[in-house]
Amino acid sequence: MNPEKSTVRVLITGVTGQDGAYLAKALLDDGYKVFGTVRRGGSPKTDRLKSLGILERVILVPLEITEFPNVIQVLSDIRPDYIYNFSAQSFVMDSFTHPITTTQVNYIGVLNLLESMKILNLDSRFLQPSSSEMYGSQEKSYVSEETRFNPFSPYAVAKHSAHCAVQIYRTKYHVKAASAILFNHESELRGREFVTRKITYHLARLNNDNIKPLKLGNLSASRDWGYAVDFVKAMKLILEDHSMDEYIIATGEMHSVRQFLELAATYAGFSPKFEGIGLAEKCYDQVSGKVICEISEDLFRPLDTVYLRGNFSKIQNNLGWEPTTSFNSMVERMVMSDMDQIENKVYFY
Ligand code: GDP
Repeated sequence: MNPEKSTVRVLITGVTGQDGAYLAKALLDDGYKVFGTVRRGGSPKTDRLKSLGILERVILVPLEITEFPNVIQVLSDIRPDYIYNFSAQSFVMDSFTHPITTTQVNYIGVLNLLESMKILNLDSRFLQPSSSEMYGSQEKSYVSEETRFNPFSPYAVAKHSAHCAVQIYRTKYHVKAASAILFNHESELRGREFVTRKITYHLARLNNDNIKPLKLGNLSASRDWGYAVDFVKAMKLILEDHSMDEYIIATGEMHSVRQFLELAATYAGFSPKFEGIGLAEKCYDQVSGKVICEISEDLFRPLDTVYLRGNFSKIQNNLGWEPTTSFNSMVERMVMSDMDQIENKVYFY
């Protein structure tokens, strides 16, 4: 614990999500004082904080990010030195059915924070997690901070607007705002609506219970998947540095959903084999003959970002960050964690 850091106040919006929880843990371990916002009303989902053993150490603050008066009041009360904004509607698929809510949270919410910082004349440093989804479809699959954005989901449009707002407030109003362009990042704490955790959780249950095969959409969709704990370290470095800038956080490697499934099934003790093509494709266990996965047309997206990997050399050169957890090791950790939870009947998140 660093005594100097105990006077530094950090506000993490959306502290109960995957990134918020890991970041809170990293900051608390370093000695920072951490405030974390949870949505007003209902009981907050604190399982991730609990599983990391930090629930009692984070000061929870109710906040509705879409309400400007609430946002300015919370910032004025806490006067944080650092603000990490993880409040988001983070699921791309849902943004097609809820485009307005997505825009209110992912764009207006960010404006509320930036505008409050400007009006209160706060000297805080602000980090906005932008998204690789902003790139959309590209001619070249390897993208950098210089690549033009081409968002094509309501989620990506809202994230892109927020990204531009950060640039405007930084350059026009001298608000200390930086952004991290995050490629997909997964972990044991990932929500089960995301394909990676959906796979590992289902495989762990398949192993124990007599449940139906996993249903997936486009197995050929590929992602540059990193490990969330590595990514959180990068975000911490960005705000600890003085130059408020924009950085891609990625691994530069790409894997398909099919590869993820095959590897995860192997770690879960199956001997996976794929058979058939298109909607008739199946993955089954060669030993027991059990069907592991089938395809469902309903899970295909109206528009999907397919092949994108991120060039992280800017953050590597400027801040010395690089991913340290391999794809295989991340998949193994996720499978083992879910098998452990199912076996011990301790369902955290
Ligand atoms: P995203 O990149 O933030 O949208 O993360 P997801 O984990 O939700 O999706 C990653 C990719 O997996 C996308 O290209 C999806 O089309 C693909 N995918 C295939 N089957 C599924 C599925 O059953 N659920 C989800 N969430 N994604 C799927």
